[in-house]
Amino acid sequence: MKVLFLAAEAAPLVKVGGLGDVAGSLPRALAALGHDIRVAIPGYGAIDWPGFHPDRKARFDVPQRGDARQSAQVWETLSGEVPVYLLTGPPIPTDRRIYGSGIEEDGPKFIFFSLAALEACRQLDFQPDVVHANDWHTGPAVYWLSTAGRSDPFFENAASLFTIHNLPYTGRDAGRFLAEYGLGVSPALTLLPAWARDSMLGLGLVGADVLTTVSPTYAREIRTPQGGYGFDGTLSARADRLHGVLNGIDTDVWNPAADEALRERFDTATIERRAANKAALQEEAGLGREQATFLLAMVSRLDSQKGFDIALPALRLWLQTGGQLVVLGSGDPAIESGLAGLELTFPGRASVRLRFDPPYARKIYGGADGILIPSRYEPCGLTQMIAMRYGAVPIARRTGGLADTITDLGKPGGTGILFDGYDPGSVGHALSRALKVYAEREQWNEVERRGMGQDFSWDRSAAKYEELYREALRFRRGASSTA
Ligand code: ADP
Repeated sequence: MKVLFLAAEAAPLVKVGGLGDVAGSLPRALAALGHDIRVAIPGYGAIDWPGFHPDRKARFDVPQRGDARQSAQVWETLSGEVPVYLLTGPPIPTDRRIYGSGIEEDGPKFIFFSLAALEACRQLDFQPDVVHANDWHTGPAVYWLSTAGRSDPFFENAASLFTIHNLPYTGRDAGRFLAEYGLGVSPALTLLPAWARDSMLGLGLVGADVLTTVSPTYAREIRTPQGGYGFDGTLSARADRLHGVLNGIDTDVWNPAADEALRERFDTATIERRAANKAALQEEAGLGREQATFLLAMVSRLDSQKGFDIALPALRLWLQTGGQLVVLGSGDPAIESGLAGLELTFPGRASVRLRFDPPYARKIYGGADGILIPSRYEPCGLTQMIAMRYGAVPIARRTGGLADTITDLGKPGGTGILFDGYDPGSVGHALSRALKVYAEREQWNEVERRGMGQDFSWDRSAAKYEELYREALRFRRGASSTA
């Protein structure tokens, strides 16, 4: 199949969070199954253009309302074997910015990108069987395919699959910009609550032939009032089109046996070498080199989603009672200052780095004893999978993909610690459970080894997407439309 894969970010060109990891790795797994898949992302100035040296492939116009148009260019580079198209034009920032501060900036940016990516296919004579779009940034492409695209000879047979990576990010209040780019209203929009009819996510939810989200548990949660953020009705109405497909990780990119960032590389048979990584991490983080002390870590976007409000009180207690803590994260200034406060109160026990630093993240995964993930909600989460692959034990809230990828220690084959309550007491209780097992070092090492032995590769999920692409095609080419 010919697949166009649309995303706002894709590693290694540009990555802010898990979406970037997925858009970097899933297309490679699909290419390995023999599909002709091409990725399109906005050609931000933040990308290392000299490093990736893309070639310009075409220059064309993106139509707007009336006779207006904006000029666009498409550039091609490679990520492994997978072609990546970079779309440039007036709304795409040429400075270091990726996401802006609001819809005024991001609305036009991502509508332009969505439509330019489709038009680029026509220019390059790449006629996709399936357009796989991701999150609200690419909703307009899905919607265009379900409306105007139906009577466009080039796209009439192109099916769409829309993946929800993070439901509460909706790109709402975009009506003015959608109209500017000629995206009109269709009856399908009545499937959405009134407030969401001009949201870019909503356009994807009603326009797609098939919907997926990134774990089976999250697929259930988003159909409930609690987890649906207002879209539970829409998603329940489309439940027959909605599937949960667990994310994988690129096990070559995340491989403790070959990771150059680590002081000592290791695998399950040489797990004792982690001790050297722990010592190196303690040294780099400015913590006491205490091999016997539990070194807890967090690597995370600093966002209310990630549960720092319940973590902070528990972490204070953790540090008071002798634990060590390493945090790497950037984002919300209020969370940043709360974390910085920990380092000030517990110098030499808590180390907080407020920045985006992939090599340091690797050192943390390869050296910390446990990784705390107290998310309020978590569509899939990659952090816990990466942690397990590197022998760091996840201590996580039982929600979304965390529930699907971690087996609690209380069960046979346990790989981590899960807790239910969204409160500091539940975090504290989970940390105490971790300490108890840690005291029996052989038991702890066994848990680490089991985590490292899990298969988090894309193989199974890539095959599932392949199946769903076929299903989307059947809907597009045979069956009724929603729009
Ligand atoms: P989300 O997509 O919600 O941010 P995920 O767990 O799915 O969460 O993915 C997070 C990814 O981003 C992981 O690869 C993690 O290592 C990485 N990451 C998060 N914060 C940082 C940071 N400050 N520096 C480096 N990598 C980070």
